[in-house]
Amino acid sequence: MSVISKVSAPFKLAIVGSGPAGFYTAHRLLKEWPNTQIDMFDSLPTPHGLVRFGVAPDHPEVKNVMSTFDRVAEDDRFRFFGNVTIGKNISVKELSNNFDAILLSYGASEDRKMNIPGEDTYGVASARNFVGWYNGHPDYTDFKLPLDDTDTAVVVGQGNVALDIARILLTPIDTLRKTDITEYALETLSKSRVKHVHVVGRRGPVQVSFTSKEVREQMSIPGVQFNADMNFISKEITESQSIISKNRPLKRLMSLLEKGSPTKEADKSWTAKFLRSPVEVLKRANENRVNGIKYEINRLEGPLDARKAIGTGEFETQECGVILTSIGYKSAPIEGIPFDSRQGRVPNYLGKILNGKDELPGMYTAGWLKRGPTGVIVSTMTDAYETADTIVDDLKNGKPMLAPKGDDLTKLFQERQIRPVSYLDWKKIEAAEFAMGEKLGKPREKFCRIQDMLAVL
Ligand code: FAD
Ligand code: NAP
Repeated sequence: MSVISKVSAPFKLAIVGSGPAGFYTAHRLLKEWPNTQIDMFDSLPTPHGLVRFGVAPDHPEVKNVMSTFDRVAEDDRFRFFGNVTIGKNISVKELSNNFDAILLSYGASEDRKMNIPGEDTYGVASARNFVGWYNGHPDYTDFKLPLDDTDTAVVVGQGNVALDIARILLTPIDTLRKTDITEYALETLSKSRVKHVHVVGRRGPVQVSFTSKEVREQMSIPGVQFNADMNFISKEITESQSIISKNRPLKRLMSLLEKGSPTKEADKSWTAKFLRSPVEVLKRANENRVNGIKYEINRLEGPLDARKAIGTGEFETQECGVILTSIGYKSAPIEGIPFDSRQGRVPNYLGKILNGKDELPGMYTAGWLKRGPTGVIVSTMTDAYETADTIVDDLKNGKPMLAPKGDDLTKLFQERQIRPVSYLDWKKIEAAEFAMGEKLGKPREKFCRIQDMLAVL
């Protein structure tokens, strides 16, 4: 173990994951501990995590944070190593031989499952797959969904990702053409026959995880009407008045749901369906293809601010050809690091990784891996700053860090035939994407295969 206590002392940090959590931690540390050297690693040749592969293509303003990340990367004290998977190409143990500390901010790369019969039927997919596909994530380029073979899709879950999906399925194709959505997704979506999207929650309208801006946008998609049991919405809002009146964002959100959409009697619709828990995926006769979904009908129990869905023992079926599960992402453990599989995160106190009650010297976490897969970019920033402050406090207080031996990662890259991608390399890839986009009249056309990205270099 080493101890670094003087502000002038050099401090070498490895960051695993180049999403908002990694970049905002780097941003704060470079400011607060000037003698910091940061090496950031990402599995993909492209940085920025879910800002590139999660944020919807029709929300370009959200992606402006990339310019903040560019400024961090321009700092001489920062280096990017894309195309390097920690835990596969290089182990955490090997990293610890090279750095005073390691920050794990590798996000949530798995899905929560419904765990119901038929979940593996063709036509069922997770939000992560679908979003990764339309956003050009190299792992999902070959993803398929029978959108040309059904007019009804069900999205399970009532969070903002569910709304992103419903909006992408229902937005006029010419609107999407002006975004950075991948060309192959445009091609498939242009042949989609989906007209009705049911966004299904196990609890009621007061418990949805949508935010107002997203619901307002959903209510304004041209040519798309909103369906819901409006009497039920009103009844639930009235019953929960005591909590709604004290919570302004919730009040705004409820008034949007009560008001609905100005579009009436359109041939496309989105429906908010409440009190339904999927229990089975129904298949076409003799075919591994989705034909519908069976729900158990729930009722709500418990205090108003912690309502629970309780099955009534009554069931209902609905015909559909596509089911997208949007019930949350999930982080995966990495070898040698404690992991709380119940909560799906690395145990920590203010970002310092814990092994039981003990702090692991020099080991930190931030972002979705630190607190679970919820929160927008701004909350990820706040959380990353908290971890950066913990690191700075530990340095100031002379807390033990790792004991680097000064091994050379370059040698490991050569031995293992890894071709790391620097930030300068990434900017070349990005320039090529902008150029392809310009030809197509869109902001950028993403490379979706790693070999195509590397071919630019
Ligand atoms: P991530 O952004 O997931 O970054 C993790 C990074 O780690 C990735 O680059 C990944 O490639 C890398 N990685 C994974 N494993 C390894 C490994 N073993 N070795 C090396 N690197 C690894 N928030 C908003 O404010 N506005 C929005 O519009 C919005 N839209 C969203 C849409 C979707 C579909 C989703 C899922 C989320 C959205 N969010 C949005 C939330 C926002 O994206 C998150 O708050 C934020 O990205 C979390 O940051 P992170 O750094 O923890 O994780
Ligand atoms: P989320 O907000 O946590 O929503 C998950 C939804 O899935 C909830 O409705 C939850 O219902 C439901 N759910 C969970 N387990 C379930 C199960 N077993 N069966 C049925 N339903 C289940 O997650 P998310 O939508 O993936 O979004 C992740 C984060 O990214 C959020 O913070 C979100 O705001 C953010 N994001 C933001 C934007 C934006 O700002 N435009 C866009 C996309 C994402 P319960 O409440 O009953 O558990």
